[in-house]
Amino acid sequence: MPDIRKVGVVGAGVMGAGIAAQVANAGVPVVLLDIVREGARSRSAVAEEAVARMLKTDPAPFMSPAAAKLVTTGNIEDDLGLLAECDWIIEAVVERPDVKQALYRKLDRVRRPGTGVSSNTSTIPLAALVHDMPDAFARDFLITHFFNPPRYMRLLELVTGPQTDAALVEQVSRFADVTLGKSVVRCKDTPGFIANRIGTLWLQLAVIEAIEQKIEVETADAVIGRPFGIPKTGVFGLLDLVGIDLMPHINASMSRTLPTSDAFHGVARDVPLVNAMIADGRTGRKGKGGFYRMARGAGGAKMKEALDLGTGAYRPSVKADVPEIAAAAKDLRRLMEAGTPAGRYAWAVMGKTLAYAASLVPEIADDIASVDEAMRLGYNWKRGPFELIDQLGAAWFARRLAAEGADVPPLLKLAGDRSFCRVENGQLQSLGTDGAYRDLVRPDGVLRLEDVKRRSKPLLRNGSASLWDIGDGVACFEFTGKGNSLDEQVMQLLAQSIPLVAEKMKALVIYNEGQHFSVGANL
Ligand code: NAD
Repeated sequence: MPDIRKVGVVGAGVMGAGIAAQVANAGVPVVLLDIVREGARSRSAVAEEAVARMLKTDPAPFMSPAAAKLVTTGNIEDDLGLLAECDWIIEAVVERPDVKQALYRKLDRVRRPGTGVSSNTSTIPLAALVHDMPDAFARDFLITHFFNPPRYMRLLELVTGPQTDAALVEQVSRFADVTLGKSVVRCKDTPGFIANRIGTLWLQLAVIEAIEQKIEVETADAVIGRPFGIPKTGVFGLLDLVGIDLMPHINASMSRTLPTSDAFHGVARDVPLVNAMIADGRTGRKGKGGFYRMARGAGGAKMKEALDLGTGAYRPSVKADVPEIAAAAKDLRRLMEAGTPAGRYAWAVMGKTLAYAASLVPEIADDIASVDEAMRLGYNWKRGPFELIDQLGAAWFARRLAAEGADVPPLLKLAGDRSFCRVENGQLQSLGTDGAYRDLVRPDGVLRLEDVKRRSKPLLRNGSASLWDIGDGVACFEFTGKGNSLDEQVMQLLAQSIPLVAEKMKALVIYNEGQHFSVGANL
C-alpha cells in the first residue's frame, strides 16, 4: 500500500478543522472542505474561516503559522475533485447517518479506487454507515475516532468492519501513530466505542449521585479526581471544560443505540438542573459559566463561584475539606469503605463505573489493556479501570458488589483473587478473557519508559531525576520531582550523567512520561 502523502478532510467544524491542523503539523498537505454557506462572500468561507479561527485559538491547533499554509481550503460543490489526489479521506461532518451516507456516495465517485475513507463519528456504528454502500467502499472504510482537541489528545479509537481491508488498517494505523503522534486503540463496533462508552456513564452517574446525595461540586471533584488518578477537574470541572450542552446529546445517542439490557439505561435520566443550565446559556467555560464560574466580588476582585446543586444558585467556591482523601493516598479502599458522605459518593460513582467497565470486555474490546489505554488517553486518567480495580483488589471489589446484591461481572469472577495486570520476569502481562495471562506487546517500534522502569534499575538516580539504559546504547534522562520541575538535583544528576553517557553509551534522550514534561525551574 502506498504511503499517505496527502490527506482530505471533509467537514471543517471543531473536529475536522483540528484534524486537518494536526495533519499539517506533521508536514503533510491536507485538503479541507465544507459546505457552501448561503450568502457568504466566498464559496469556501466555512473552511477558510475555520483555518483563520484556528490561527487565533488557544491552545493552538497549529504548531506554527507555517503549518496552516499546508491546508488547502475548499467546498464540496466545487472542489470534491481535489480528493482524488488524497491517499486518505477523513469524514468529520455532523453526526447524522443520512448526511454522512449521502457524502460517502459522492466521495465514492471521486476517490481513487483503494483510497481509505474513515469517519470520525463518535456514536454511529460502522455497520450502519456502510450498509447501503458497495462492497468496494466497505472494504476501504473504517472509523477513526479522534478526541477533542485533536492536536493534544493522544487517543485514536480505530474501528473496522468485517470487510475492511487489513492492509488499509495497517496503513492508517501506522500513519496515525508515526506521523500524527496518536496512540491507536482497536475497538469493537459498538456504540461510543471504548472511552465514551465508559466515560458517559461515569459522568452521568457522578452528576446524578452528587445531586441525590447532596454532595457539593468541590467535594465531588476532590473525591472523584486525585484519589483515583483522575485530573483534578474531576467531573464537574470536566463538564465545564467540554461543554455541558454535549451531555444530553451524548446521553440521548447512547440511550438510543445501546441494548435495552445495558446498565447505562439505569442512569440515563433527564437532569432538570442541567437542562435549566443549558436553557440559560450556562454551558460551561464557553458559555455564561457552568458548575463553576469566575465572578466579580466586592470591590471588583475576581472570585471563583460554584453552583449549589440544590438551588441552582451560585455561591463563593470553597476548597473541599475531605479528610478521607489523605487516607486514600495510602489505600484507596479506605476511601471506598469510609461510611462518610465522601466515601459513599466515591463508592456509588467509581464502584458502578469500574463494574460497568469490567462487564464490557470482550463486548467493546478484545483485551483489558485496550480499555485501560483508552481511558488513560481519552479522559486523562492516570490509571485505567482495570488498574484501578487492581489497586482496590479484584476479590475485594467482587465481594463488595456481591454483598450489595449487585451483579458481579464474569471477568471479575474469572480474576478471582488474582490481579488483572501483573509483572512477570520484568514483563507486563494482563489477564485475558480465557483466564490466562498474556504479555503486553507494544506495537513495532514503540518503546515505553514505563516498561524499561518495570524491568530494570536506573543507572543513576537521586531525588529529582533518574538515568535509564533504554537499549541500543541509548540512555534516557528522566525528571521525577514534583511537576517534573528542574531543581538543583536535576542539574547535579545531569552533570553526572553526561560523562557516563559519553564514556559508555551512544546517545542520551531527555524524556519522561509525566503529565507535564516539566513545569520549568523550581524557584
Ligand atoms: P461541528 O458541528 O463542529 O462541525 C460539523 C461540520 O460539518 C460543520 O462545519 C458543517 O458545516 C459540516 N457539514 C455538514 N454537512 C456537511 C456535508 N454534507 N459536507 C461537508 N461538510 C458538512 O461538529 P464536530 O464536533 O466537528 O463533529 C464532527 C464529527 O466528529 C461528528 O461525527 C462528531 O460526532 C464527531 N466527534 C466530535 C467530537 C467533539 O468533541 N466535538 C469528538 C469526537 C468526534
